[in-house]
Amino acid sequence: MSMIKEIEKLKKERNAIILAHYYQPGEIQGIADYVGDSYYLSKIAQQSEADYIVFCGVEFMAESAKILSPEKRVFIGNVHSNCNMVDEFLNEELVQLMEDHPDAAVVSYINSSTEIKTMSHACCTSSSAVDIVNNIESEKIIFVPDKNLGSYIAAQCPDKEVILGSGKCCVHDNVSAREVKSLKETHPQSKVLVHPESIKDVRDLADFIGSTGQILNHAIDSEHDEFIIVTEVGIGFALEEKTENKVFHFPDMVCGGMKRTSIEDVYGCLKFGDNEIQVNEEVSNKAAMALENMIKLAEKR
Ligand code: SF4
Repeated sequence: MSMIKEIEKLKKERNAIILAHYYQPGEIQGIADYVGDSYYLSKIAQQSEADYIVFCGVEFMAESAKILSPEKRVFIGNVHSNCNMVDEFLNEELVQLMEDHPDAAVVSYINSSTEIKTMSHACCTSSSAVDIVNNIESEKIIFVPDKNLGSYIAAQCPDKEVILGSGKCCVHDNVSAREVKSLKETHPQSKVLVHPESIKDVRDLADFIGSTGQILNHAIDSEHDEFIIVTEVGIGFALEEKTENKVFHFPDMVCGGMKRTSIEDVYGCLKFGDNEIQVNEEVSNKAAMALENMIKLAEKR
């Protein structure tokens, strides 16, 4: 039996689902039950009746799924799937910001460590960040780790004072305005769709700014048929699958941490229980409050 058929059989036996982020390799997106961005996948993980979740993304995503659903067994497809923004942002920086601004609420991007989440009033994703910052009661917000997403939110929420952490995503932060302008010169008919983890000079060139899921929906619904996509190239798989006769151009944007999962890894999780996520109960309970607030505040009208 082929490995993919074995995976299908094991999924039924274990009442399992496979979740894949849009930045995962195409073959992993192809075997997933649900493909989406962080917000969509965290809600699926919480609402699903599966007993066993194989999360093909980076580590903080699988940890968030475990924290939101401690009764489920959650596995990370590949244990070396890391996010450099999470790894580089230090707890000490947030502690200092909290000491400097004791009257501020802390909103952390879901791309943060579990410890950062335990210190936060609410988490957010790039698709929910503006709603969450607007809906949180405090007028003063410390936003960590991503300084680029934070500055985008600050501009969208003029009634709030937003204090920024210094974190960044090396994949989005590395793309320069010059690179995007050069793509635009080569493909002048293209509309420019930009993820808010990008620097301001790049966001200023955008026809549309949104999360990965929002970029996908915008490209599907748009009457235009040629786009420069300023986010990780993995989204190309879903763009090609869900559109016809549309053309997409990308800057050089590959997230190494997202590309480590293989079909064999997924099989190992399902067959042998490889790579199960464990989170200390006390830490999990504290971080759960910030993640649950994310879902409540994103949906509050
Ligand atoms: S693209 Fe950036 S923020 Fe997203 S997982 Fe990779 S390093 Fe982290």
